[in-house]
Amino acid sequence: MTIAVIGPGAVGTTIAAELKAVLPDTQLIGRHNKTMTYFPENTSQAQNIDVVSYDNTHHSFDVIIIAVKTHQLQNVIKQLPTIAHKDSLIILAQNGYGQSQHIPHQHVYQAVVYISGQKRNDKITHFRDYRLHLQDSSDTRKLKQQLSSSKIELILESDIQNKIWYKLLVNLGINSITAIGHQPAKILQSTHMKEICRSILNDGLQVAQSEGIHFPDQTIDDIMKIYQGYPDEMGTSMYYEVLNQQPLEVEAIQGYIYQKARFHKLNTPYLDTVYTFLKAYHLKFIETKDL
Ligand code: NAP
Repeated sequence: MTIAVIGPGAVGTTIAAELKAVLPDTQLIGRHNKTMTYFPENTSQAQNIDVVSYDNTHHSFDVIIIAVKTHQLQNVIKQLPTIAHKDSLIILAQNGYGQSQHIPHQHVYQAVVYISGQKRNDKITHFRDYRLHLQDSSDTRKLKQQLSSSKIELILESDIQNKIWYKLLVNLGINSITAIGHQPAKILQSTHMKEICRSILNDGLQVAQSEGIHFPDQTIDDIMKIYQGYPDEMGTSMYYEVLNQQPLEVEAIQGYIYQKARFHKLNTPYLDTVYTFLKAYHLKFIETKDL
């Protein structure tokens, strides 16, 4: 089984470095040839890992794990004909939902990613976790067996949609509030902000229910408790994207839920508002930045 990981960022480099430790032929593919320095579990024990550009990749892979930001996926799809064959297993290691419909391959799986890390230039600091949740199938069972000796843990789910929606909701609340409020997690110390966050989550939960995804009654309380456990200075990916004036993964998170709300003709004023603000912000950058 030949494996490629696309996207030498926080998630992609972590996956590639850990797979390479047990499957040395694993390739990390990026836009340019370069070397990433990877610090596992926030230690100072650096490991170097080479990134190969598409131009220097001369064969196709059985498994392709895509770990670029959701708005960068379009450019990866253009490269797939050179690195995928018709039976390649393609795994989207990204937040958000709805991206798999754009990939013209048979075996495409959306993963729910629990790997936490950060990219600064060519340095990757991995903080914690090595987990990817995937739909259980004969494809993913084979892959799980293949990766069993690596630190990358595949959790196979009988109903991945439930996991995907849970992560969507967790991202919806805190990403929206921190990105629009330009503050890290401590922004939720304000009672008003907590109320707004709950209302956004409530809109999201309504959409999930209309999609046939059922969560227990206390789900919003549980998610609010997760947020309360965040350190005050912890930012979210969308908060940092705003701070660094970068495009946002808004279409795959808030946008996906918003489109479903329109489809089901739901009244979701909080979701509509945060989506409209974040999308306007995102559009400012996609015209000027090379995605
Ligand atoms: P990231 O650190 O920004 O990495 C994205 C990488 O993709 C960058 O290295 C970028 O390359 C590369 N890239 C962009 N366009 C490309 C292309 N056309 N071909 C190949 N490589 C390309 O992002 P991330 O944090 O790893 O996030 C990846 C996904 O995982 C996102 O959906 C994110 O929401 C999700 N996620 C992240 C975390 C986390 O803690 N980081 C946790 C859970 C989920 P350059 O270096 O050349 O710019």
